[in-house]
Amino acid sequence: MVFVRGHRSSYDAWVAAGATGWGFADLLPFFRRSENAVGRVSDLRGVDGPLTVAPASPPHPVPTALLQAATEVGHRRATDISGGDEEGFGWTDLNIIDGRRQSAADAYLTPALARSKLDVVTDALVHRVLITRGRRTGVEYSVGGSLTSVGCSAEVVLTAGSIGSPQVLMLSGIGPPSQLHELGIEVAADLPGVGSNLQDHPVANLAYQAARPFRQERTTMERRLACYAAGRAWMARTSS
Ligand SMILES: Cc1cc2nc3c(=O)[nH]c(=O)nc-3n(C[C@H](O)[C@H](O)[C@H](O)COP(=O)(O)OP(=O)(O)OC[C@H]3O[C@@H](n4cnc5c(N)ncnc54)[C@H](O)[C@@H]3O)c2cc1C
Repeated sequence: MVFVRGHRSSYDAWVAAGATGWGFADLLPFFRRSENAVGRVSDLRGVDGPLTVAPASPPHPVPTALLQAATEVGHRRATDISGGDEEGFGWTDLNIIDGRRQSAADAYLTPALARSKLDVVTDALVHRVLITRGRRTGVEYSVGGSLTSVGCSAEVVLTAGSIGSPQVLMLSGIGPPSQLHELGIEVAADLPGVGSNLQDHPVANLAYQAARPFRQERTTMERRLACYAAGRAWMARTSS
């Protein structure tokens, strides 16, 4: 439920590494279009997008004290670390509406379900993207063990996650030829990077006993998220 955009310098480092079109200025219009950042008044934030994001309200006393402590020992206080310009400790936004998580499906898919051009197939396992003469022509998938396919004239957007996406690509013949040959998969595109460079995202949670009682009405998850938010701000600061 934590909603944090990266720092401007992180996206700009992608451009420096060769990813033209993925700099902060390139992405900002899309970030703005996606979000309804409640209470954030800034040219860097959007206010009429489908994703509702806002800091936890009311603020919990533990992360409030943590933020104050960070400021007292000299760390910079950020008013909005998702703006992309600031570094320091601050409240992050959360994807919560009326106490419940707002998923990407809540924000984008559910409102579009009635569109006549949209078919949603659930409980489906994608086997591969179909490729003819180097162009995608559709997707092969199964539902309840029965294999079927759907054709396409435009894009296939593959969003099967950090392990599933490269797996589907490799099953489709897109990947390192030596590995594909070993598995008897015909090579459609020689892309050695597919399926490699998976990186862990380590997070260390620290548990403390409070010196005095504090109110309990919010859930453990919400408290954890608020503390996590402060930690992310710290990581953003120390990694830059
Ligand atoms: C514990 C945890 C906490 C996190 N907390 C946050 C947070 O607070 N804020 C934040 O921004 N991010 C958070 N993340 C990261 C975030 O969840 C991911 O970045 C995000 O979900 C990636 O979205 P995605 O659509 O690319 O992939 P996923 O959400 O992984 O979705 C991929 C989907 O594809 C399906 N799939 C895979 N293979 C196939 C196949 N062959 N056929 C059909 N379907 C397939 C999978 O079942 C899955 O449903 C967290 C991640 C973890 C693990």
